[in-house]
Amino acid sequence: MLFMKESVEASLASHTQGSHMLDTTLSRMDQACDQLRVTEGVRAILRSCERELTVSIPVRLDDGGIAVYKGYRVQHSSVRGPCKGGIRFHPGTNIQEVRALAMLMTLKCAVVNIPLGGAKGGVEVDPSQITLAEQERLTRRYAAMIMPLLGGKRDIPAPDVNTNEQTMAWLMDTISMLQGHGVPEIVTGKPIALGGSQGRIEATGRGVVITTIELLKKLQISPEGVTVAIQGYGNVGRHAAQILQREYGARIIAVSDVSGGIYNAHGIDLLDLNDYVDAHRPGLLAGYADGKRGDEISNDELLTLDVDVLIPAALEEQITEGNADLIQAKMIVEGANGPTNFEADRILEYNNVHVAPDILANAGGVIVSYFEWVQDLQAYFWDVAEVRTRLGKLMCKAFDDVWTLAYERKTSMREAAFLLGTERVAEAIVVRGLFP
Ligand code: NAD
Repeated sequence: MLFMKESVEASLASHTQGSHMLDTTLSRMDQACDQLRVTEGVRAILRSCERELTVSIPVRLDDGGIAVYKGYRVQHSSVRGPCKGGIRFHPGTNIQEVRALAMLMTLKCAVVNIPLGGAKGGVEVDPSQITLAEQERLTRRYAAMIMPLLGGKRDIPAPDVNTNEQTMAWLMDTISMLQGHGVPEIVTGKPIALGGSQGRIEATGRGVVITTIELLKKLQISPEGVTVAIQGYGNVGRHAAQILQREYGARIIAVSDVSGGIYNAHGIDLLDLNDYVDAHRPGLLAGYADGKRGDEISNDELLTLDVDVLIPAALEEQITEGNADLIQAKMIVEGANGPTNFEADRILEYNNVHVAPDILANAGGVIVSYFEWVQDLQAYFWDVAEVRTRLGKLMCKAFDDVWTLAYERKTSMREAAFLLGTERVAEAIVVRGLFP
């Protein structure tokens, strides 16, 4: 049996979403270019992606059939260093979304001032609908097909939505087999056993927490007892929740994932929640809210709860002109990429909601990916304390840079972060000059 696996409806809906996100990213970059008086030529370079590859990935299914999935790898900019960015497996991903995410990676690396450019990858697949063995074959075939773009000095993938350490291990093994020798530096977010870094799994969540704490300090609010709602209980949301509660005494009163959510005004018992989620493959919290542990809450309700801190840590385009006016949180710390659209920014600013933008707040992941790459190249590894100290230093420096610029320019943290990132990338474009 030979067939093309795709849902026309899902793909049409997501295409619209991906193009919104690209429009939002381009509008924010344009705004920064206007203020920085970037030349038209440099602006045109910034608005375009350097290199894009679309692949059709045939996969042998367990029942002997074949399914074909669409995959992408997009490099937005290598002007400041090798391209860096995650790979997501999601039925709604598409080329527009991947372009936007690659641009955000370029700006993120520039905001935290690490010598890397921006890329992103995606495969249009719902991994919950295929077996682990099929996921492995899909990953290996995708890796082989995008291999011409990859390399420790060219383009280094990492995990993103629905991909994890195991996915990165398959990717690293595939490229190593094809090259005839081990290439740990070709991918980050690997298992420690293969040259992964201590502290990488928690890194994005820890970076979100560092950003939250720094913002609370500026607003002169003690973290002890602050109320927090988190949308998305995957890699980013779960680690952010744990660290905020365990290390800072924050009260996590609502969390949600794709299957639903829970609300408990006294604070959710995260150890109990984690046991439940781990036992319900593939990590879903549907059915957890039973009245005693907390009440069921929808994703829409979670976003508009009266909390101190709202952390969107799922997907893009969650806070829009449709719900921004209903947001009651004092501050939003963007764990996800692109969770707030351009129109929503204006409403939130008007309503005095502080927004720590994605290209600052979720940069902990790429920072520790950078550390992992450095350790792989040196073949010399650091302990977790060293990783955390270095992560804290870079995150706090970037936070201060953005905060100070926002203050000086009397603008939002989002605009300041885009200004900072765009300026650094534009400067690199200008000083490198054009080849030939
Ligand atoms: P993940 O796959 O581990 O978790 C995603 C979570 O979001 C899951 O709990 C899922 O159920 C939930 N979710 C999906 N659709 C949802 C919906 N419609 N409503 C509510 N919840 C929904 O992914 P992740 O790695 O935690 O990534 C989450 C976000 O953070 C993405 O935007 C990603 O690009 C961004 N990000 C991730 C990293 C990283 O290191 N993993 C780094 C930077 C940014």
